[in-house]
Amino acid sequence: MESELSTELSIAEAERLDDLVQVVEQGMATFIQVGRALGEIQQSRLYRETHDTFDVFCTQRFGFGASRARQLIGVSGVVDNLVENGKPLQPLPVNSAQAAMLVKCPADVAIKAWEHAVNTADVNTDGEPIITAKHVKGAVESVMGNGAPPPPPPPVPGRSKDRLGRIVEPALEGPYKENASLVDAVRKLQSAKAAALMVADRTGGEWVETPEMTRLFELLESTLKFAWYHTTCPDCRGDVGKDCETCNGYGYINRSTYNRLTDEQRSWLNPL
Ligand SMILES: [Zn+2]
Repeated sequence: MESELSTELSIAEAERLDDLVQVVEQGMATFIQVGRALGEIQQSRLYRETHDTFDVFCTQRFGFGASRARQLIGVSGVVDNLVENGKPLQPLPVNSAQAAMLVKCPADVAIKAWEHAVNTADVNTDGEPIITAKHVKGAVESVMGNGAPPPPPPPVPGRSKDRLGRIVEPALEGPYKENASLVDAVRKLQSAKAAALMVADRTGGEWVETPEMTRLFELLESTLKFAWYHTTCPDCRGDVGKDCETCNGYGYINRSTYNRLTDEQRSWLNPL
């Protein structure tokens, strides 16, 4: 049951997550490479020695027909065209579903629509845009619909979300960004712990006092996590530098302070 899982990942889970993210990232790079490869085979008719048509070649060699192949060629072409001043846009589509929404657009519309999609997407807790295929489709429609370039995006500051999912107030954006390095420090600590435990399992490692070492790593981890940015201070409402007892003038509070808030204090953070 999902609700019974603790939010924090065990070391094994964190490592598994790293592996899986790599698989996904490699797969994302692959959809573009697959499309380019198919395009070259088709363009140069490299199938001609053994097969009469590209369609038959694809069906026999890959198990999918030319229509799927053309779809893959189309999406890789779209991504290759998302350039401005000779440089690829950042970020680029990371899956064929996102790119597929741009296939039918002229190149200049595809660029505008993709930029619009990136700038208007919701962001995750790391401040990265969450871009669904449906969102890209909406961006294409709004760019095509009014013909004029989309309105300039809202400035990026203030769009990060804290651990309650609230938009971080512009005044707290700086502290929020700086605090994010603690998240990175915890990840590094977790890798170091995994490496140390591996050594303890090897010959010679019997001198390592594993329980003591594990306890120390856990202490370090909880010390760092204690300082994590949780949300805006509801008492000074993020007024950095104010003489506020709840947040000591930081403008934001950690999880432990949040857990001690009264319902009244929380009601400002979680309006009904
Ligand atoms: Zn405060």
